Amino acid sequence: MTSPKSLREISCADDYDPNSMPVVKARELIRSFLTPVTVIERVHVRSALGRVLAEDLISPIAVPGHDNSAMDGYAVRFADLKADAETTLTRVGESFAGKPWTGPIGPGECIRIFTGGVMPEGADTVVMQERATEHAGRVKIAQGAVSKAGQNRRFAGEDLKAGQAVFRKGQRIHPAELGMIASLGIGEVGVYRMLRVAFFSTGDELKSIGTPLRAGEIYDSNRYTLHGMLTRLGCEVVDMGVVEDAPEKLEHAFATAAASADVVITSGGVSVGEADYVKQLLDKLGEVLFWKIAMRPGRPLAYGKIGGAHFFGLPGNPVSVMVTFYEFVRDALMILQGQRDVTPLPTFKVRLSAPIRKVPGRTEFQRGILSPDDNGGFSVRTTGDQGSGILSSMSQANCFIVLPTEVGNVAAGELVDVQLLEGLI
Ligand code: AMP
Ligand code: MG
Repeated sequence: MTSPKSLREISCADDYDPNSMPVVKARELIRSFLTPVTVIERVHVRSALGRVLAEDLISPIAVPGHDNSAMDGYAVRFADLKADAETTLTRVGESFAGKPWTGPIGPGECIRIFTGGVMPEGADTVVMQERATEHAGRVKIAQGAVSKAGQNRRFAGEDLKAGQAVFRKGQRIHPAELGMIASLGIGEVGVYRMLRVAFFSTGDELKSIGTPLRAGEIYDSNRYTLHGMLTRLGCEVVDMGVVEDAPEKLEHAFATAAASADVVITSGGVSVGEADYVKQLLDKLGEVLFWKIAMRPGRPLAYGKIGGAHFFGLPGNPVSVMVTFYEFVRDALMILQGQRDVTPLPTFKVRLSAPIRKVPGRTEFQRGILSPDDNGGFSVRTTGDQGSGILSSMSQANCFIVLPTEVGNVAAGELVDVQLLEGLI
C-alpha cells in the first residue's frame, strides 16, 4: 500500500466509510502513519529485557567454542570399538567442564569425560557411563554401546558460528535472547529508547480510588488496565488520571500529553467525538479520524496525530478498551518501538464446546476459555455474558474467540479462530 499523504486525504477517499470501518482496514490505515523511534541507548544486557534491539548483533565467538561431551562417560576413538564384542580400553586422563584434558589419546586409550568437558584430540565419540565399567584404569565398554562415530559429542559452533549475525535490529529481547547475548560474552547492547505513552480517562462519572462514590459514580478502571497493558509492552507510562468532560480541561490535557509523549491514549466519550466541541478541539490541535469499527465490542475508535504524537481514542467501556488495545494499539506500539515483523495477535483454530449466537455484520471478539478436552487437545467456550461493561469476562478469559463479519450462529463442534491472550504458544 502506498503511504497516504494525510489523514484528511484518507477521509475523502471514495471507499472511506467512517460509520462501518472494517477491522483490517482500520489497522492498515493506522500502520501507514507509524514511524518507529530512532534514538538509541546503550543498556546493560539485563536491562535489555523487553526492549527492542537497535543494532545487528554479530557473534564474536563460536558457541560452543570447542567440541565437547553431551554426556557423562568416556571419550573414545570409535574405530577402537569392536562391533561384535566388549572392548577394553586404557583410561589415560579426565576432562571436566572447564578443566580439559590437554593431551591427545591414542589407539586403545580413552579418558573419563563429563558433560561439557572438551573432547581431547584423537577422540571422536562419547560412550555414556551406563554402558561402561571401570576397574584399575581399565574401562570395559559394552558391545553396541554406541551405534555411530560422533555420538554424544557436541560440535564447536553448533549453536552459533563466529561472525554469524545472531540477531537483526528490530528483534524484541525475551529471556532466550538475553541468554544468547550473554553466551556471546556481550555485556551491553544498543536498544531503542522507550516509547512514552500518556493516557487519561474522561467522564464526569469517574472517580479515582480513595474517593467515596456518590450515586451514579464508578471507579476509573480503564486507567489501571491501560497502565498494565502498556507496562507489559515495555512503554514508559504517563498516567494523567481523570479529565473532566469540559472543553478547556480537555484542551489542556491533550496539549500537555501531546507535547511530552509519543502516543496519547484516552478512554471514554472523547474518543467517539460525540460532542461537537471534541471534534472541533481535536481538529484545532491536530488531525483525527473518528470511526465506527465493524466490530463488537469496541465500535467507536479514533486515530490521528496531535502535533507529533499519535492519538488513540478508545471507547469507554472497560472490555472495549482492552479489545481495541489488543487489536489496534498493541501492534501500533510495537511498530513504533522499532520491532520488525509485527503481526496482529496470531489466530489458530479450536473446536467450540458450546454454541455461540451471533448476528452477521461485525467481527466479534468474544471472551473465551481454552481448556483441555478429552482427546488430548483443546476446546473453547465463551466466558458467558459478553456485555462490554463486564470486565470480569476479560479476567476469566484466556483468549478471544474471533468470529468474522459474515458469520452468524456457530454450533458446538465447529472450528473457530482464537487469539491467545497470555504469551503465545
Ligand atoms: P463512554 O464511552 O464515555 O460513553 O463510556 C461508556 C461506558 O464506559 C460508560 O458506562 C462509562 O461509565 C464507562 N467508562 C468510561 N470510562 C471508564 C473508565 N475509565 N473506567 C471504567 N468505566 C468507564
Ligand atoms: Mg463518558
